Amino acid sequence: MKIGFIGLGNMGAPMAANLAGAGHEVRGFDTLDVSVQDVIKVSSAAEAVAGADIVITMLPNGDILRAVAAEIIPAMEYGAGFVDCSTVDVESARDVAADAKHAGLHPVDAPVSGGIGGASAGTLTFMAGGSEEAFSKADPLFEIMGQKAVHCGESGAGQAAKICNNMILGITMIGTCEAFALADKLGLDRQKMFDVVSTSSGYSWTMNAYCPAPGIGPQSPADNDYKPGFAAELMLKDLRLSQQAAEASDADTPLGHHATDLYATFVEQEDGLGQDFSAMLPRFEKRSRDA
Ligand code: NAD
Repeated sequence: MKIGFIGLGNMGAPMAANLAGAGHEVRGFDTLDVSVQDVIKVSSAAEAVAGADIVITMLPNGDILRAVAAEIIPAMEYGAGFVDCSTVDVESARDVAADAKHAGLHPVDAPVSGGIGGASAGTLTFMAGGSEEAFSKADPLFEIMGQKAVHCGESGAGQAAKICNNMILGITMIGTCEAFALADKLGLDRQKMFDVVSTSSGYSWTMNAYCPAPGIGPQSPADNDYKPGFAAELMLKDLRLSQQAAEASDADTPLGHHATDLYATFVEQEDGLGQDFSAMLPRFEKRSRDA
């Protein structure tokens, strides 16, 4: 297949490299001067998409996606697939998909879970929104870049699944960290706390697979001085998207709201920027009830 790939950052570069490595002809464009193995570097987004069977975008946010979409939609082949893997707001995903459909393209919003490690290893999970036909066009590429692709529904459903998942993740991480901080103050050994909770009804992915306490449970960013992993500022981005969506749809999400405020304080007023999102534990550890 001829593939146009736009946005060759931390995630996009290894994803594009995996597609090229699987034998597809990949033309890549990024506003920064990036070279990716086996990917043909071109000098504009329009050049990357000309003649492509499928175009993939992996961009920072919804505004940039809208700007890039406005540029590439008129330059794409009628009937081509347009797969946006960025994490963006549901509204931008739906608007871009509507414009793409109007131009005779097959849009899919397909944000990913699995991080930079998953992008390099080709083990991402894709959550996709779009028509059956659009999804089946993109699916062979999901198989190369990932280990699982779930077709969640119509346009926007992929982004909806992503922000709901990450809202649970943010809330659960905070719960796990504050429980460890409370256990410390009660004199409970952290290993015992892990042994009990990881096999009791308080278990979760954040406790069992990504334990925020160093030296406890499986290897996690806590064992590497809280270097990300999944950075606190990316969690904040996703929580804000969840609250934007909650507002737009009049959903009551009190814990999502509170988690957003906590991560905003941590990233923007404390020392959370550049740390893993599990560094909430040392944050709670240092605090008292009123401070
Ligand atoms: P990144 O900042 O490393 O990459 C984004 C790339 O887009 C950059 O190289 C940037 O130069 C490029 N870009 C910006 N504007 C452009 C334009 N107009 N035209 C072409 N290129 C442009 O970010 P990332 O970590 O690769 O994340 C990409 C997306 O994936 C984000 O939406 C993020 O939320 C999501 N995501 C990231 C992770 C992660 O662990 N990093 C995990 C899941 C999802």
